[in-house]
Amino acid sequence: MTKDIGNDFGHAGDTWERTGGKGVVVNGKVYEEHSFNVRVGLALSKHLKRCGIGEKRIQEPFKKEVSLRDRTNFYNHENVDVVLSNHANWNRNKNVKGICVFAWHNHEDSQRLQKLLVEEYEKLGFETHGVGEHESEIGSWTDLHIVRETKMTACLIENGFMSNPDDFKNIFLNPEYAEKCAEAQARALCRFFGIPFKGVENVAQKSVQIQTGGLSPEMVAEIGRYFDNKQWWAQIQYTSDGENPTALTGGLSPENRKEFEGWLKHRDWWYKIV
Ligand SMILES: [Zn+2]
Repeated sequence: MTKDIGNDFGHAGDTWERTGGKGVVVNGKVYEEHSFNVRVGLALSKHLKRCGIGEKRIQEPFKKEVSLRDRTNFYNHENVDVVLSNHANWNRNKNVKGICVFAWHNHEDSQRLQKLLVEEYEKLGFETHGVGEHESEIGSWTDLHIVRETKMTACLIENGFMSNPDDFKNIFLNPEYAEKCAEAQARALCRFFGIPFKGVENVAQKSVQIQTGGLSPEMVAEIGRYFDNKQWWAQIQYTSDGENPTALTGGLSPENRKEFEGWLKHRDWWYKIV
């Protein structure tokens, strides 16, 4: 029987607008936790597919928020095998950093997966917050709805602290980081189910980054809208004198590369593959 994962993207497209929480403002720019959670979840999706694991979702990327109660009702109704909820943490103390995994304190299967997750994150070089395994209990700050109300194995993963400068860079400015989080999760899930993890080497080799030439302010705005629309990671890079910014994409699949090259050629903009 195919296994199914409840692939849970923490929060939603309207969380920041509605609550002013679940994100950080750095140098006047808002970085929403949901956008990171989505990148991890979508990367996880690809791993699941390749490894022959199914998935169910109720919170779609950047859509209106599905309540926690609706989420757990859905996963229970669908009777998925495992729920994984992706998040990034925040703390008043900027020094606090590292990843951690929450599981319900007396749910053995959840704790088994929790342990595997922490092990796989550590193998990929992640630092953990404390020992990385946090037990969820009634009546404490760890009493998290998603691991409490799910009937099946469930873990909530805090993939670092948005409030810590090092973790912030990884969470929001380094596309590889979300990919690595997803890989650790997929590897842990495969071990949990006792199936082989199928690697991604050949996919990674085929992906390229594209860098544009110098862009005018109008071009920066236009390309920014394009990237937002595609939900692609990209960075506008400024030289020290602030003139002629260029745009650099994250790793693009052959398909996305073709799409972006077409867009650039249509505008007659210079670019190079890096
Ligand atoms: Zn969160």
